[in-house]
Amino acid sequence: MSQRSLSPWPAHLALAALLLTLCLASLLVWQQLLSAQQQRIAERVSYQAHSLARQLEASLIYQVDDLQRLAQAWNHRGRIPRDEWTLDSQFSLNHFKGYQAIQWLGSDLAMRWIEPLQGNEAAQQFRLTPAHPNFNLAMQAKASGAPRFSNSFALVQGGRGFILYTPLYIANAQQQPVFDGFLQGVFRVEQLMDELLSSLDNGDFSASLLEGGQPIYRRTPGPTVEALQQVVALQLLNNSNFALRLKPSEHLVQRLSTPLPEFVLGASLIISLLLVAALALALENARRAHALHNSNRQLNEQVSQREQIERVLRDSRERLQLVLDLTDSSRDGLFIIDPQTRDILHMNQAMYSSLGYSAETFSQLLKEDPEQLLPGFHQWLEGVRQAQQDKLSQIFQRQMRRRDGSLQAAEISAQLMVLNGHEYLIGVSRDNNERLQIEAQLQRLSQQDGLTGLYNRRYFDNRLASEWRRMRRHNASLTLLMLDIDYFKAYNDQLGHLAGDDVLQQVAELLQRCMQREDDAACRYGGEEFAIILANAGLHSGALVAARVHQQLAELDIPHPGSPLGRITLSIGLACIEPSQDNQPYMLIAQSDQALYQAKHQGRNCTCEWQQVRATE
Ligand code: GH3
Ligand code: MG
Ligand code: MG
Repeated sequence: MSQRSLSPWPAHLALAALLLTLCLASLLVWQQLLSAQQQRIAERVSYQAHSLARQLEASLIYQVDDLQRLAQAWNHRGRIPRDEWTLDSQFSLNHFKGYQAIQWLGSDLAMRWIEPLQGNEAAQQFRLTPAHPNFNLAMQAKASGAPRFSNSFALVQGGRGFILYTPLYIANAQQQPVFDGFLQGVFRVEQLMDELLSSLDNGDFSASLLEGGQPIYRRTPGPTVEALQQVVALQLLNNSNFALRLKPSEHLVQRLSTPLPEFVLGASLIISLLLVAALALALENARRAHALHNSNRQLNEQVSQREQIERVLRDSRERLQLVLDLTDSSRDGLFIIDPQTRDILHMNQAMYSSLGYSAETFSQLLKEDPEQLLPGFHQWLEGVRQAQQDKLSQIFQRQMRRRDGSLQAAEISAQLMVLNGHEYLIGVSRDNNERLQIEAQLQRLSQQDGLTGLYNRRYFDNRLASEWRRMRRHNASLTLLMLDIDYFKAYNDQLGHLAGDDVLQQVAELLQRCMQREDDAACRYGGEEFAIILANAGLHSGALVAARVHQQLAELDIPHPGSPLGRITLSIGLACIEPSQDNQPYMLIAQSDQALYQAKHQGRNCTCEWQQVRATE
């Protein structure tokens, strides 16, 4: 019995599920790493944006520090001469390109000095009036004594800009500070921001300067990542009305990014694939090992089955050989033939050798001329088939021809068998000669008288009845002789029974000799009485036979001391009848018996015919 081999499907499904799970886990890890990285980038961008804003604030403070020093010098030493102021201003302008101009607005709020004049000519006649947007801011600076940085506004030179109002004071006669106007740093928005940013930012951000939430400046060095934009509050000197909107450049984001998530994703996918492939390989190996184990076991089972079959075959062969030996030792002929082709499947030696053939000659003869071997073969075969159908006896009395041409009586027991769709004729043939002879002998013995060897009384009755019928059919005569030994009792009495038996035997032999036709039958009718049946014979023939008997008995001349005739003699009654519907066999017996009686009466040793009784001597 073979065990069912492992189905690979559940295992394959499990592997597919494992692969899917591992891939999903890899994607999850990748997602986690990616979001962690994005968070880190956002933090870094935020940090850098804040840092930029702070640096921008610090840078502006640092750049305008010259103005503070100039204002302090003004306040401390009194109004600085124009040449010196111009030199200091030019130094500051050279040092920081963010300036549009450095100006001194007099205490009457009218423009006095401008450096450089070129490009700022429009401001020469400027006077700060309460209508100016920066008037209040300037007044606050004047009142507080501290510098004030304005919101953006339309410059008289054109464009938008800022002004840093730094109030100036000089001492009066009482050594008290008197307002001496404003030292003004004028900045164009673009120029200032470009200058500040160019020194701080190397293109990592696109920056917009927001004033009261509205953009007044934009610097876009390249493509940016909108999602990571930052808005950072910006205090320009002491004006906190600004903010910086910073968008990191794609380049910056790329720089901050690491390939770790993708690397991890790729690696984990590859590892998952390799793991599943290794598992699949192991599974396949296990499956193959299992299949190999199964096939080995099946092979072993087949081997043991085969050994068993061979053992059984060997036993069967030995038994078959025994059977064949047995059949060869049988005196009966055994055969198995194909009834259609008459090919012999098996026959024993007795089958062919008892008829004087060799096995080859027998086979050839059966094949080519079965009628020669078994006269009426085809008819017999049909008879076998019919008997089998009708469930009648399948023992047939046939004759087989010996090699020398003579016929041998054969009792053939035959049977047709169908095995595996093929018809076989199985038969046992027995030489029937001996049995027939025995049967014939038995038959004879059953008809014969033991002492004399003549037919007995039973046979006589049957024979007379059958001859009666036969003669009636042929309208022929039937003659019967009844014979009785004379004075036989006396013979026995004087010479003994054995001598009497001897006489009976001699008389019997004599009667046999006296019959000349094959159909004639001499019988011992009983005791010392005999009967002779002569079929198809009349009284004349009967008289001739009777005369012959008398004559030959006379010639034998058996002495009989108890008989007046001196020797053994017979009396014979003779009757003849033509059998018909009107008469019966017993009538013939009665008639011949009467005739015998007549013969005895007439002195014995004579023959009397019925109706016409006369002495023969
Ligand atoms: P008859 O001339 O009138 O025939 O006289 P018989 O003596 O022959 O006739 P009977 O009927 O009186 O006697 C017949 C005798 O035959 C009697 C018997 O002893 C003898 N007998 C009958 N059967 C046998 C036999 O088988 N063997 C011998 N030895 N004698 C037999
Ligand atoms: Mg008698
Ligand atoms: Mg007698």
